Amino acid sequence: MTPKELQEIRDAVAKLCANYPGEYWRALDRDRRYPTEFVRALTEAGYLSCLIPEAYGGSGLGLTAAAAILEEIQASGANGAGCHAQMYIMGTLLRHGNEAQKRKYLPKIASGELRLQAFGVTEPTAGTDTSSIRTTAVRKGDRYVVNGQKVWTSRAEHSDLMLLLARTTPRDDVAKKTEGMSVFLVDMRAALGHGLAIRPIRTMINHATTEVFFDQLEVPAENLVGEEGKGFRYILDGMNAERILIGAECIGDARWFIDKASRYAQDRQVFGRPIGKNQGVQFPIARAYMAMRAAALMVERAAALYEQGKPAGAEANMAKQLAAEASWQAADMCLQTHGGFGFAEEYDVERKFRETRLYQIAPISTNLVLSYLAEHVLGLPRSY
Ligand SMILES: Cc1cc2nc3c(=O)[nH]c(=O)nc-3n(C[C@H](O)[C@H](O)[C@H](O)COP(=O)(O)OP(=O)(O)OC[C@H]3O[C@@H](n4cnc5c(N)ncnc54)[C@H](O)[C@@H]3O)c2cc1C
Repeated sequence: MTPKELQEIRDAVAKLCANYPGEYWRALDRDRRYPTEFVRALTEAGYLSCLIPEAYGGSGLGLTAAAAILEEIQASGANGAGCHAQMYIMGTLLRHGNEAQKRKYLPKIASGELRLQAFGVTEPTAGTDTSSIRTTAVRKGDRYVVNGQKVWTSRAEHSDLMLLLARTTPRDDVAKKTEGMSVFLVDMRAALGHGLAIRPIRTMINHATTEVFFDQLEVPAENLVGEEGKGFRYILDGMNAERILIGAECIGDARWFIDKASRYAQDRQVFGRPIGKNQGVQFPIARAYMAMRAAALMVERAAALYEQGKPAGAEANMAKQLAAEASWQAADMCLQTHGGFGFAEEYDVERKFRETRLYQIAPISTNLVLSYLAEHVLGLPRSY
């Protein structure tokens, strides 16, 4: 894709997002409502299926384009968290699903007929230690019977399908604890009320996140993705794409904060002059800008490596972390620049401030990124 084509995508996304201004997001935030209209518009414009190959009804663009789409969404003041997961969850199905599964699901996901927004990995007792998950799937003839619980399963109430990680062989019966887990595509429409229950969690941000309970839920064996017992590896595979895309969202957030702060600093008059005339106000904006630009280079680099099929683990982790730190720095700066008005809902600063903080916790927390680099890049001993 040429830089010109990429810019055209960015412009088109920004134009679409202009139909969903601050008032829209504020009202949703107040009522903790899902951005149904916004997600529908993005789906209809084909943006959410940009990573699905053309053969399966998508536009087959690469990760760089996907990153640009999500960055522009955030830079416009919107929040792509209502739908970003569809982009990277789908990768597990694409890479590890069989042809029948891909033909059955991908074209419908691309057209918007089916929503694949829910990703069930995290559990309350396992936390970051995914190999300790307790949700089990036991084979019984042509089905698996699933029992257990997930937490922080975002968008479960707004998704038709869930990509679920469950243990198919007890942890004590496998040579390595990361073996014996499997990935399933759960049709939530059929499952709700028949072994699947969803309970929303009210959080600091409007994120449609939930707890999900499985009680003797039957999943057809044909919904197993890839080989039984290899699920952890499949999930890990998708994580680099996820980290790069979240990094791109953080860059978008940082751009929004920097732009918002720069404009406010020009307009706001105190002591008979714009506050932006004071270096004490200018410098934090300039610092946030530098941090954003530096992180954006890492996001770009990680996306390029990923697209070329080269190892991108270190860059994907660094991209997510540097971008999450840059967006938080910009958020804090923007709030400070706005003084008291930063706390007023109508400026959207406090909302974006809350929203961007998430990315130092999810999808992977800061310490875990740092320990990845310490161990896998710097060769230090494994700490856990
Ligand atoms: C709004 C929201 C949406 C989410 N959406 C989803 C979703 O859709 N699907 C999904 O599966 N999950 C989702 N998550 C879960 C998210 O991925 C986890 O919260 C995150 O990975 C951290 O796990 P934890 O909360 O269990 O923290 P814990 O694992 O309990 O960790 C708590 C703290 O301890 C630190 N820590 C833990 N172990 C170590 C160690 N060995 N060394 C150093 N520090 C350590 C962590 O860095 C962290 O700061 C979401 C979370 C939130 C808040």
